[in-house]
Amino acid sequence: KSRQPVIFEVNGLKKHFGGVKAVDGVDFHIRKGDIHVLIGPNGSGKTTVINVLSGLYAATEGTVSYRGNPIANLRPHLIVKQGIARTFQNIRLFPELTVIENVMIGQHIRTKSNLGSIFFNIRSFRDEEKKIRERAEEALAFVGFENYAEKVKNLAYGQQRLVEIARALATEPELLLLDEPAAGMNPEETQELVKLLKRMNELGITMLLIEHDMNLVTQVADSITVLNFGKKISEGSLEQVLDDAEVIKAYLGE
Ligand code: ADP
Repeated sequence: KSRQPVIFEVNGLKKHFGGVKAVDGVDFHIRKGDIHVLIGPNGSGKTTVINVLSGLYAATEGTVSYRGNPIANLRPHLIVKQGIARTFQNIRLFPELTVIENVMIGQHIRTKSNLGSIFFNIRSFRDEEKKIRERAEEALAFVGFENYAEKVKNLAYGQQRLVEIARALATEPELLLLDEPAAGMNPEETQELVKLLKRMNELGITMLLIEHDMNLVTQVADSITVLNFGKKISEGSLEQVLDDAEVIKAYLGE
């Protein structure tokens, strides 16, 4: 991969919950087209970083910039509008709705600001609905999902993860934040996920990935940031971070 410009920058990021310093001064950047992986022991602040980046939590301190624009503390749907989508560690789908409905809902969030005009023009509403459905179908086809009409609650866990990825993909993101996408997947499903991540990356989607499965990390990571107790303790290529005494200590010291 050739080195592309930095498009995403996190500086001095802190997120404290009362006395708990979940994230305590983290800096990292992501180059366009890279798959950047956040690793670190449990409780090191990885999910909190993604929750701040996706607008779920306000930062206590620090800046986040995307393509030169400050995005820290924007509301989640405005961050999606910037072209940044996410998936959750604990799947957040609507179990009683069908697969396609779940994927369509993700895009309604993105087009929220258009709701006003919809009431003036039913036809444009129908056109918009049609586009939303088409994008949902495309995203599902891309992740290799066929059973659109099935209720999400009837799907196996690994399948639900794919639906979540499709939902994020349907918003046509440039940057995708994935919180442990392989959690709950069997080895076969994980291998399929590796292929999917690579295909999405080939589409030009930049990614920030939290992942424990080192087998997966080895196969996809372009660069890595290692957190421990809310602070960055190492960064670089996989070889570099695995060779770092601080990293070894953090993992073995558990
Ligand atoms: P990781 O994703 O690396 O396992 P987390 O970001 O989930 O770590 O958690 C980092 C620390 O912040 C933990 O000590 C966790 O208990 C704490 N934490 C996370 N979210 C909250 C919250 N909403 N309120 C209070 N403490 C939290």
